[in-house]
Amino acid sequence: MLSYVFPGNIDKSIAAIGANDIPYMRTDKFSAINLESEKILLDLIHCPEGKAIIYTGSGTGAMSAVVENYVKTKKKALAVNGGSFGQRWVSMCEYYGVPVIDFKVPFGRDIDYHELERTIAMQNPDVLLCQHHETSSGQVFDLDIIARICRRYRVSLVVDVISSFLAEELDMDRTGIDICITSSQKGLNIPPGLSIVFLSKKLENYEFARNGYYWDFKDNLDNLRRGQTPYSPATTLYLQLNERLRQLRSQGGEKQNIEQVRHRAQFFRNLCKQYGWNMPAENQANAITAIQTRDTEDRLIFKGLIEKYQIYIMPGSIPGFYRISHMGLQTDKELEELARRIHDLEPKAK
Ligand SMILES: *Cc1c(COP(=O)(O)O)cnc(C)c1O
Repeated sequence: MLSYVFPGNIDKSIAAIGANDIPYMRTDKFSAINLESEKILLDLIHCPEGKAIIYTGSGTGAMSAVVENYVKTKKKALAVNGGSFGQRWVSMCEYYGVPVIDFKVPFGRDIDYHELERTIAMQNPDVLLCQHHETSSGQVFDLDIIARICRRYRVSLVVDVISSFLAEELDMDRTGIDICITSSQKGLNIPPGLSIVFLSKKLENYEFARNGYYWDFKDNLDNLRRGQTPYSPATTLYLQLNERLRQLRSQGGEKQNIEQVRHRAQFFRNLCKQYGWNMPAENQANAITAIQTRDTEDRLIFKGLIEKYQIYIMPGSIPGFYRISHMGLQTDKELEELARRIHDLEPKAK
């Protein structure tokens, strides 16, 4: 199987951990593993003095945790809504009863940063929620500009970096981000099931709200101090995470990984140009390539790739719109083959 979805093809030695015996987790050994994972994670995102809570739960769980514990302490949020993940911030604020400004950004477009600043100046939100990379369209936003605006108006910044961590340059402390979240099946390239909340040092003594039992920051942070979790961790995934983090560290850290993802993206985009596929995102993220093909509503390309070749790509909401992830292991040769097969399955121009 060749997978261009999340997590994509993963390293064989990491996958093999999933077949091992599952150790008991309330031990010093397991605690030490988790404390090491936390340290490497904080180094990779450049927030060495912060905290990284590792939850058993998908990325949306971490988003929910942030809204329950942090956004709930604020008077008014502004959510940048450039696609389905931005929309999720809006829905969550509504769900938890936090007043929210739904700052819409057209699909695949960049933010109008002047408009964003005007809206903040007029409406005074005290927390801004956004994605670094809106995965539904492939659009990456400029965190430096967003952070500058937030500093100017004293707005706390929370960023969903789920599909940019280890794929785009990201320095949490330098940018001045208060909270970042990510999950295991994207840039980390291990199976789905874990999500991570990064808390900056600025929030060390923050009085978090307590609105959700499972995701409670205080309870999770108290346990984290000794490398433990309040409830049963997905033990195997925590072990795979640790091995993957050690691997990343020994292979040159986040820089090296970002370089690899960027290379795959650029290599594939050259092929897309040759085959005449439009790539709608205004500023394309490294993590995925989004293309518009001539495919029909019947998703002939998507189905054909699976049936004929066991190849997986991600369909989008529009007919003929597909997303190809570059977070998984993939060679230039495999990408050439993928492009050729998409081309062969694509209905020909009349
Ligand atoms: C994948 C993703 C999520 C979370 O999705 P889960 O399915 O809950 O893991 C959230 N935000 C972004 C930007 C994503 O790419």
